[in-house]
Amino acid sequence: MKFLLVLAIVLLAVWVWRSGRRDTPGSGRSKPPPPPTGPQEMVRCAHCGVHLPRSEAVVGRLNLYCSAEHRSAAEA
Ligand SMILES: [Zn+2]
Repeated sequence: MKFLLVLAIVLLAVWVWRSGRRDTPGSGRSKPPPPPTGPQEMVRCAHCGVHLPRSEAVVGRLNLYCSAEHRSAAEA
């Protein structure tokens, strides 16, 4: 019977410890919010002036361009 009493105390201690940990600020490992998926950054072709998303821009030595043709035309 003494064993059951010790077991109950241990379980109670663990329960108190766990519920106490849950309440401490910062212990919750919540993931940081994902980066906002807003509109993409728009860049301007240095040759013809068309605007396009930066992810689709062709990176030249000096500027960004809408296509490889305009890059070579501008930087040739
Ligand atoms: Zn262009």
